[in-house]
Amino acid sequence: MAQEELKQEELKFEAEVSRLLDIVAHSLYSEKEIFLRELISNASDACDRLRYAALTQPELLGPDESGGDSGFSIRLKTDPAARTLTIVDNGIGMNRQDLIDNLGTIARSGTAAFVEQLESKAEGANLIGQFGVGFYSAYMVAQKVEVSTRRAGEAEGWRWASDGQGAFTIAEDPEAPARGTRIVLHLREGDEEYLDAMRIRQVVSTYSDHIAVPVVLESRKEDEPDETLNAASALWTRPKSEITEEQYKEFYHHVGHTFDDPWLRLHFKAEGMLEYTGLLFIPSAKPFDLFHPDRKTGIKLYVKRVFITDDCSELVPSYLRFLRGIVDTEDLPLNISRELLQNNPRLAKIRTALSKRVLSELKKKAEKAPEDYAKFWEAFGPVLKEGLYEDTNQRETLLSLARFRSTAKETGAEDGWVSLADYVGRMKPGQEAIYTITGDNPEVLAKSPQLEGFAAKGIEVLLLSDPVDDFWLTSVPDFDGKPFKSVTRGAADLEKVAKAEDDQDDGGEKAPNEPSPALDALIAFVKLTLKDEVKDVRVSARLTSSPVCLVADEGDLDMHLERLLKQQRQLDHSSARILEINPDHGLITALAGQIGQEGAGGVVEDAAWLLLDQARIIEGEALPDPAAFSRRLSALVEKGLVSGG
Ligand code: ADP
Ligand code: MG
Repeated sequence: MAQEELKQEELKFEAEVSRLLDIVAHSLYSEKEIFLRELISNASDACDRLRYAALTQPELLGPDESGGDSGFSIRLKTDPAARTLTIVDNGIGMNRQDLIDNLGTIARSGTAAFVEQLESKAEGANLIGQFGVGFYSAYMVAQKVEVSTRRAGEAEGWRWASDGQGAFTIAEDPEAPARGTRIVLHLREGDEEYLDAMRIRQVVSTYSDHIAVPVVLESRKEDEPDETLNAASALWTRPKSEITEEQYKEFYHHVGHTFDDPWLRLHFKAEGMLEYTGLLFIPSAKPFDLFHPDRKTGIKLYVKRVFITDDCSELVPSYLRFLRGIVDTEDLPLNISRELLQNNPRLAKIRTALSKRVLSELKKKAEKAPEDYAKFWEAFGPVLKEGLYEDTNQRETLLSLARFRSTAKETGAEDGWVSLADYVGRMKPGQEAIYTITGDNPEVLAKSPQLEGFAAKGIEVLLLSDPVDDFWLTSVPDFDGKPFKSVTRGAADLEKVAKAEDDQDDGGEKAPNEPSPALDALIAFVKLTLKDEVKDVRVSARLTSSPVCLVADEGDLDMHLERLLKQQRQLDHSSARILEINPDHGLITALAGQIGQEGAGGVVEDAAWLLLDQARIIEGEALPDPAAFSRRLSALVEKGLVSGG
């Protein structure tokens, strides 16, 4: 090969990588050994990827191995004299561009999230274990890393090297493995333990036993054979009784690229019409990209133990996208293309069966371990609720799994999360609907004036504060025959419940108000003043202590939904609201008294506008004319002070 071609280039790491490497190299992270887990995990992924590519291009395996995949392996070598630990795989390998893209930038979303979270080095060290930093974790134990690699099917091999200080070099490497990757770690002083066979054996069996490719420690002595350190069979094919909790957990970390403990595990084999094995996990920590639009699914699809894809959106519905794990089926052809996976009827059947299985497992948890279930619900409830409108077949189950904040706390019935069955069990005689209010925050919602009348009658209201709530409410008609009804829309229809409650009441309740002529006159005056700013002005059945509130008309969108749609630019107008007035409030009776008094017109007019603006503020809506609001408020307060003084 000409001298020219072997010339070495120096390239700079992306700024984030340099920062990351700096932290990794100086970290005092106590579990340095995870570097081996990361490198073995990458080697195993590389074998999986080649095995898949070879389904359609068997020549990629090379002349010796065209017959099958039995030749895949991950080999570890130590050289105490040179202080090196070497990891060799015969997987897919990398070409020059792959090296630059994969080992020079932060391509991986988990690592990117890690860098985003970094504030100080001290904190970084703690976070390494939580996120894992993949390939770069090698620098916890190595002062220099050399990667020699050849992409399967390509002629040139490449050598990447770096001491992790801002730059790396790339050169052509005729000595690279025939196919796959060799990683040489030049160990730091103090990290010699990774030259020791005992230590390596221990680390591999702790973290990498589940790896399906054999991990082989090469013997340094002529007369001793190489040693395979792992069971080298796909974990999910082993009998459950032979799998330890630790092995399950490490497998979860490997497939899920996550580092928390799984909250729930399902390991099952379905037989009959369709044959497949599932090993699925629900994380305990919420992934940072749960609502990211181009997030991949977390479940890997295998066909007859061969990895096919980790991006098969057909495998589970989107409302279960927090699941991690694998599905391995006998019932799809090995050479299935990604296009064929779409609209595949067998896959659709597997999806339905998986969803049912997961939901029924959740149901068991909800019944048997409500407190533990609440933790799951806090992390993933908002995602699961998407199923209420996406999957009508599972709606009943999903409704039974849903938990809500409610005013039950205020009425003393319960603290924490409430199920719909709990709610229905507490409904008052005569109450026909499940009452809801939607907004951004349950604490703020609990103080909404629209709830006053309900609270006075002891009627529970669900406080819904996930954006998805407004959407499923528009498509789910009822639970157990009880319709959902927003307390901020339409009439409050509390009379029926009031009647049923009469005998239990301690006499505090008075007869419904006979509208007085003065009140009628006030309402007419306010209507005339506010004109098109409101749809109507009427006496409220839902207020007890606030003077006014806004509600949406029966046929209009709920106010919070309308605000959400406007924020997302899916709607460009608002419907006019109804202003409801509390006839018993001192301010309202005083204003009613002013109507018809000489010279009072101006004051009442200002008051009408102030009442509307006040209701808007409570509702969290922007004032169309804050300057006018301020002017009117000042004038009124001044008048009160001057005449009062
Ligand atoms: P992740 O494994 O989560 O993608 P890593 O930092 O561990 O992140 O690795 C970055 C990328 O480098 C991998 O996605 C892969 O494309 C490439 N890579 C790393 N090690 C190998 C290997 N042994 N063979 C082939 N590609 C590799
Ligand atoms: Mg990795």
